[in-house]
Amino acid sequence: AALPYIVGNWKMNGTRGMLNEARAIDRSAARFPKVQVAIAPPATLLYRTREAVEFIGVGGQDCHAYDSGAYTGDISAVMLKDTGADFTIVGHSERREYHAESDEEVRVKAEAALSAGLAVILCVGETEAQRDAGDAEAVVGSQLEGSCPRTEGAVEKLSVAYEPVWAIGTGRVPSVEDVAAMHKSIRAKLVAIYGDAGAEVRILYGGSVKAENASELLGIADVGGALVGGASLSAESFLAIVGAA
Ligand code: 13P
Repeated sequence: AALPYIVGNWKMNGTRGMLNEARAIDRSAARFPKVQVAIAPPATLLYRTREAVEFIGVGGQDCHAYDSGAYTGDISAVMLKDTGADFTIVGHSERREYHAESDEEVRVKAEAALSAGLAVILCVGETEAQRDAGDAEAVVGSQLEGSCPRTEGAVEKLSVAYEPVWAIGTGRVPSVEDVAAMHKSIRAKLVAIYGDAGAEVRILYGGSVKAENASELLGIADVGGALVGGASLSAESFLAIVGAA
């Protein structure tokens, strides 16, 4: 089986001083060869982070669908790759919400990232209202249907991150049963989309992952890793999660 994959999403946090955290994460990650560790710093730090680390993966948090052009302020997958990035996140709920990204847009971004040679972490997840209405699995299923990349070979470089919107930054985490049920349903959807290869795609859980809940969450069937926000901003708290994996 693939190694557990622990990814830190720094979001819009970090100036050069944070490179010290990246270095500390990198040094310690070398002590956990049974865990695959990566961070997604803000784009402004990607190149310096890549230069500063040796063992861990480095990736972007989003990319544009096109390689270049008149898109002021945007960053293409080709540009991320050029910084030395290994992967990019796409479809994070904060992009879907604050930048009104549709499933279709997320799919095209994922395809652009793959064609630039990046691996992809595709995020999906329901809102609290959708969960309360009993629609969580249907919502996530339809996000996958609409945003999974369909290009040749896509499945091999794809991870999916299930991040319930209501669990992000709130300290609230779904029950073990709910995570298990959702990951099972995501697995079934991936197999429906990709065939047998869909069984190999890593499905990460994200949303208020901390050292205290990491080993329980990572022990759930079909949870292949974690996408960590707040707790990835200090080497100490992030490494505690890596250690629990
Ligand atoms: P928190 O770990 O801060 O809840 O954030 C999760 C997340 O959105 C990671 O992408």
